[in-house]
Amino acid sequence: MVEQQPRPCPACGGQQGTEKTRHSVDLDADGRQVHRQHTYWSPCTTCGGTGLSL
Ligand SMILES: [Zn+2]
Repeated sequence: MVEQQPRPCPACGGQQGTEKTRHSVDLDADGRQVHRQHTYWSPCTTCGGTGLSL
């Protein structure tokens, strides 16, 4: 019997996803525009967030 070795997903390199940065512009209390950065985790769509190639 040959054991199946799971391989790292080529799309994310086994990282299970990537950290992405989203920019938005909000208004402060004085009505001036303020740039904000939101960093969020985006699961890999190729492997579904498992980090493994099927
Ligand atoms: Zn992946």
